[in-house]
Amino acid sequence: MSSAEDCSTLSRNAMDYKTKLSALSASGNLRHISSVRHDGRWIWDGTHRMLNLSSNDYLGLASEPALVSEFLDTCPQSSRIFSSSSSRLLTGNFEATEELEDLLARAYCRPAALLFNSGYHANTGILPALAEKDCLILADKLVHASIIDGMKLSPAPFLRFRHQDMEQLERIVAKESQKYRLVFIVVESIYSMDGDVTDLRRLSALRKRYKNICLYVDEAHAIGVRGPSGLGIAEEQGVISDIDLLVGTFGKALSSIGAYLVCSQEIREYLVNISRPLIFSTALPPVQLAWTTFLFRRLPQWQARREHLSRISSQLADALRGFGGERSASHIVPFIVGESSACQLRAEILQRHGFYCLPVRPPTVPRGTSRIRFSLTASVQECEVEALIDALLR
Ligand SMILES: *Cc1c(COP(=O)(O)O)cnc(C)c1O
Repeated sequence: MSSAEDCSTLSRNAMDYKTKLSALSASGNLRHISSVRHDGRWIWDGTHRMLNLSSNDYLGLASEPALVSEFLDTCPQSSRIFSSSSSRLLTGNFEATEELEDLLARAYCRPAALLFNSGYHANTGILPALAEKDCLILADKLVHASIIDGMKLSPAPFLRFRHQDMEQLERIVAKESQKYRLVFIVVESIYSMDGDVTDLRRLSALRKRYKNICLYVDEAHAIGVRGPSGLGIAEEQGVISDIDLLVGTFGKALSSIGAYLVCSQEIREYLVNISRPLIFSTALPPVQLAWTTFLFRRLPQWQARREHLSRISSQLADALRGFGGERSASHIVPFIVGESSACQLRAEILQRHGFYCLPVRPPTVPRGTSRIRFSLTASVQECEVEALIDALLR
């Protein structure tokens, strides 16, 4: 093919992309990256200041400069290493890496923990490594995109059960489990779009009835904010030891970056050998890991923040009963509007009232259920939630 032809193929395609973007725009589903400025728990859009109600900084730690100063005071110059310069399998393994993994394993009272660069890396690196052709993956219909990508990269067949439909799941397990070596049941403990909480006890009971079930729980939204020491829903429901693969992330309540898997020694060793996002990507910088360790150690101390967050979450969810609030059992509270354009307009109105919230539209949520997803943090005050409710329901 000549270079002239090559070029025209490209530009024809560019036209296709343009048409597709126009279609997204016409249906109110066009996304863009907004350039806002941050000021602690506030967002500036150039003209006005808005309370950030779209952040995953659930404990309010990221908006606390005092914590950073305290960390820097305790972090010696020799530990301020801003790149690991390599994958862990080469020279990217540092003391800080092992220290954090030990801390995690001890906190969960489990044999091992393994760090990943992000929740996305973890979820796209675990199932493709562990679930082979003779295994079955059963995942909740609403699991995070990173888990879906992990399933697609795995050679194992997968089925998705209706959201939180434990009866359907139990029926599928009864019918299918004996045909497979292992059945992976994959759920989140708190779902990101409705803020509902999974009954992990029921899953752990199901796991006990079969010899070949492996429970995989993503606690991304729960780590830090739930459980008596902030370890998540598995801790709150007393089932940590029944979760074979417990994934948590540091980018949300822990105001850092990275993720971890809590598991057995054998699984850890196997993933170190097989999991591609772990093997073929530069490890997290030691200084970042030290920051994560600094915060993770303090998790048990933040019970008052967790209680405050729980109080304001119920306050908002109760007020939004009938509009989606009834779905939530956490600090994530949906306000369901319906059509995307109406939802976008609603979000803009709230922004003008000083509340920074964003519309969530298809394909992230099902068509016709576009919503504003309030993501509360411990730094939001009761009177601010009251003002928000006023602005919403007036
Ligand atoms: C945010 C999130 C992830 C991705 O974690 P990152 O560390 O941001 O890559 C994975 N799973 C769930 C359920 C999440 O909410």
